[in-house]
Amino acid sequence: MDHHNNVNRDNLEPRDSARQRSGRTMMFDTVICDLDGVVWLEGEPIGDSVAAIAGWREMGCRVLFVTNNSTVSSAAHAARLADIGIDADGDVISSSDAAAAMIAAGESVLVLGGAGITEAITARGAQLVDPNADAGVGASLEGVDAVVVGLDRRFDYQRLSAASAALRSGARFIATNEDPALPTPTGPMPGAGSIVAAVASASGRAPVVAGKPHRAIVAVIHERLGSEFDPARALVVGDRLSTDGALAAHLRCRFALVRDGAVTAVRPDGDEGDAVETASESGDDGPAMDDVDAIADDVRAAVWLTASSVHEVMVACRLRASD
Ligand SMILES: [Mg+2]
Repeated sequence: MDHHNNVNRDNLEPRDSARQRSGRTMMFDTVICDLDGVVWLEGEPIGDSVAAIAGWREMGCRVLFVTNNSTVSSAAHAARLADIGIDADGDVISSSDAAAAMIAAGESVLVLGGAGITEAITARGAQLVDPNADAGVGASLEGVDAVVVGLDRRFDYQRLSAASAALRSGARFIATNEDPALPTPTGPMPGAGSIVAAVASASGRAPVVAGKPHRAIVAVIHERLGSEFDPARALVVGDRLSTDGALAAHLRCRFALVRDGAVTAVRPDGDEGDAVETASESGDDGPAMDDVDAIADDVRAAVWLTASSVHEVMVACRLRASD
């Protein structure tokens, strides 16, 4: 049961010895990697994340970056990754892409969010409706096909009113994601989920969520990875159980939970580990930890030996989808 005990760097063996011990090379050919809280915080690399990603690629892994951060486009995320030395051209999927995939050409869409969403929506051939147009008290915004809500840094009463009016007039309600908070170097900031909750409250409507771990982004991931994608040889790496962990469960991949700084392990009963505590503190009720006993040595070796320098420890396990 040693592998359930806390782990520190002293337990980590050099990559070569792990390879020799397992008698083979990497058991993964695909790594689906979160961005915020894993690779960077507001564009600043966390630890040696750049080297860890290079390490996965050296071992022959395709690395796909999948983020719920909708504030900039996937191309802009890729450009920012290039700035820190990670070539990710064509290898970024954001919740904006997933939301846009739910929009048809020619539709009329009201967006509460940043350029990441509006660029993805207009690229679909849809028309944008100005949320700053005065909806007035009790006004209706008829003819709007969909309201797409993400992290809207210009959010105010006017924009809330417009979105609510369009939804009350029958528009579809699409949320990029429901992450309540966005990790930053100075602590958590309100995330898209906070804005979505306000719009849901004002309109009396519940959104269809496009981003992790929901169906729309799962479809975009499958489309991007193509028929070669083998979940048994793929690993999702993330810092949030309810999004990244649940995505892994839906994709039927293994999951590695990044724990920044603290040295901890998830315990087999799943209710005492620090990772689970952290999840519940943030209102993050992700999928149930399942099968932690079945963590394979080579899974842990692959994750820790290539990425241990990113964060102090990661745990790899299978998760049980809650829906
Ligand atoms: Mg994250």
